[in-house]
Amino acid sequence: MDTVYLDYAATTPLSEPARAAMDPFLRDRFGNASSVHAPGREARKAVDEARERVAAAVGARPDEVVFTSGGTESDNLAIKGAAWHGREQGRDGVVVSAIEHHAVLDPAKWLERQGHRLSVVGVDAGGFVKTDALASAVDARTAIVSVMWANNEVGTIQPITEAARIAREAGAVFHTDAVQGIVWLDVDASMVDLMTLSAHKIGGPKGVGALIVRRGVKVQPLLHGGGQEREVRSGTYNVASIVGFGAAIEHWVDKRAAWASQVASLRDRLQQRLTTMLDRVRVQGESGRLPNNLHLIVEGIDGESMILLLDASGIATSQGSACSSGAAEPSHVLAAMGVSRDLAKGALRLTLGPQTTGSDVDRAAEAIIASVERLRAR
Ligand code: PLP
Repeated sequence: MDTVYLDYAATTPLSEPARAAMDPFLRDRFGNASSVHAPGREARKAVDEARERVAAAVGARPDEVVFTSGGTESDNLAIKGAAWHGREQGRDGVVVSAIEHHAVLDPAKWLERQGHRLSVVGVDAGGFVKTDALASAVDARTAIVSVMWANNEVGTIQPITEAARIAREAGAVFHTDAVQGIVWLDVDASMVDLMTLSAHKIGGPKGVGALIVRRGVKVQPLLHGGGQEREVRSGTYNVASIVGFGAAIEHWVDKRAAWASQVASLRDRLQQRLTTMLDRVRVQGESGRLPNNLHLIVEGIDGESMILLLDASGIATSQGSACSSGAAEPSHVLAAMGVSRDLAKGALRLTLGPQTTGSDVDRAAEAIIASVERLRAR
């Protein structure tokens, strides 16, 4: 029995253009992109072409792309790097939203323990950052403000234009984690100072990403060493993965609009089926979410048990972010939206992708309905 994969927000399969582009660099093109000889220059050329592709996908300049090991590193580099730089300029404040990925929240909390001032700005019940609260939290000593483009659990699209305006008016650096945003939306780097991207959510390999650092924006490095990436991120280039990232992003962005309408109609069909067949089910983020996201709170069930039951029927789903599922703590995103601990236990995140079919959705709906009935009867 084939698995029905409904966890595209956790990761995606490697796309064919990415695999094909990576292949020679996993075989004979092994040069170090920092070497001056021919094999090195060949690798450097491939890295630079990937840099152009990543830049073009988000409206940035190639020299604004800093390759990293993924979204987590890019977020850490943005938050810590801008906070450290800010401190040298007399700015000690860090402002983040309460629904950020742990890759933003945890560095921010770590900085607070190091003596920075941290404000965590709340969201409304729909899962959208409160911009009035953001404006009150930002002041003339704020170094960095971070609000994600779209949330990875409930899929809500955040008020980026307004958040960036608030940060910039105070002279602070504005960062957005666009790891989920770029999957479905035309994210525009010119609206922000720093932008996090990750390859594996858009058909690229795992373990590679980028931080877009707009010209004139300064971040202190996390990694010191060979001085790669204009001294911002030292370390020998992960050539094959960077090349795969470049091919993946170009292919994905080219297809994105067509895929978005396809996944939206399948998602709507799944939502319709589940909400008519099941009672006591709430849909999160409905007033402005990513087209592939269906986040449900199913009352009276334990989501963890549901995910295991669904897995046994060949349906791959999750409760929220991949890193926190398996952990007993309920989602910080749902908590910020005012969902009680008890209700949050019934969370089920279904995220569709380009490969999702109508029969996948129908099989998933049937299995979810059967699992809920079984769990509620216990
Ligand atoms: N930020 C968001 C919004 C994410 O969804 C993820 C992935 O789960 C990350 C950051 C971390 O990215 P990576 O898996 O590349 O470290």
